[in-house]
Amino acid sequence: MQPRIGVLGGGQLARMMIPPAVNLGITLEVLAEAPGMSAELAAHDVGDYHDLDTVLAFAQTVDVVTFDHEHVPQAILRELVARGIPVHPGPDALLYAQDKLLMRARLSELGLPVPDWASVETSEELGAFLASHGGRAVVKTARGGYDGKGVRVVTAAHEADDWFIALAEDGNGGALLVEELVEFQRELAQLVARRPSGELAVWPVVETVQRGGVCAEVLAPARDSAGNVATMAADIATAIAEGLGVTGVMAVELFQTTDERLLVNELAMRPHNSGHWTIDGSTTSQFEQHLRAVLDLPLGATGTRDDWSVMVNILGGPQTGSIADRYPAALAAHPTVKVHAYGKEPRPGRKVGHVTATGNDLDEVAYQARAAEAFFQG
Ligand code: ADP
Repeated sequence: MQPRIGVLGGGQLARMMIPPAVNLGITLEVLAEAPGMSAELAAHDVGDYHDLDTVLAFAQTVDVVTFDHEHVPQAILRELVARGIPVHPGPDALLYAQDKLLMRARLSELGLPVPDWASVETSEELGAFLASHGGRAVVKTARGGYDGKGVRVVTAAHEADDWFIALAEDGNGGALLVEELVEFQRELAQLVARRPSGELAVWPVVETVQRGGVCAEVLAPARDSAGNVATMAADIATAIAEGLGVTGVMAVELFQTTDERLLVNELAMRPHNSGHWTIDGSTTSQFEQHLRAVLDLPLGATGTRDDWSVMVNILGGPQTGSIADRYPAALAAHPTVKVHAYGKEPRPGRKVGHVTATGNDLDEVAYQARAAEAFFQG
């Protein structure tokens, strides 16, 4: 029988699982949020992932359930597990990608390096943290943030009042995460895959460039990372994957501080934007690896095909027409670049695709990727 994987969420991550599923002869089913989503090619079902009956009916048609995002409620996932349906990553691990406060607490317990942090329930508590951290800090909502939404640099305690009010109105109580404003040289991401039976594989650590809180570009591997940085990043990601019992692909977002420490910022327990380069730049893409991992199949090699890969996101996209309208000019000018379009309508700031260039000269590779991406703007 062909293995059947069910993906909750129909965005571009689910979409990019389709080619390796086809190659491996795996049936991919997607529960999309709405018709016309990115993973429409595989989306036989449309329904609300907040609704237990909808998710149950979907899950009963597949061998294993996995995700395009981390927003599926814990209660639903626990019900699937109670009914014997394999869920990867499981709810016990996924919890730490859903709630930044729980994640900070658990990683601190495991002795992993994180920014100085505290859980604050009032602006007085926030004020006390600010006073002990030079009057500047980063406040984050524990749940529901993405692409920099839910993250705020503050210099006065009242600057998070609206979030405290929203938490109080929510009725469930709750707290905000506050942490030191880290002085970093750059941001890195370490991708790892782990099977339920324990086998684990890491890709080379990469450098991520954020603009306005959104990932704009990824350089793989990170420059000057051979040796210490690569080893530290891989060790941290391995410790997290094993410590939290993560199954599937996980991205660990890291800060490399000005004094050469690595601190964990965020966890994503699914394929991640920082790993899109692996489709064209690694022996095994993160999407193929995720499918292999959640089926508990042997993992693929994670080396690079060329010395360098540069991935540039197409953010927003063309103001007139579609991405495909730009293909004749873009593909003619950059025959070595690979273009990936997500089937989404262009809209300011939206991730509608990405391009990847690979080769052995970083300057040339970066030029090719940036110049190709520029064809999809304006
Ligand atoms: P999201 O969940 O929206 O991706 P993150 O926690 O990753 O939010 O934060 C978004 C960006 O904000 C990070 O990529 C980083 O550039 C910046 N940032 C987050 N936390 C800190 C911090 N403690 N110090 C300095 N910059 C930070």
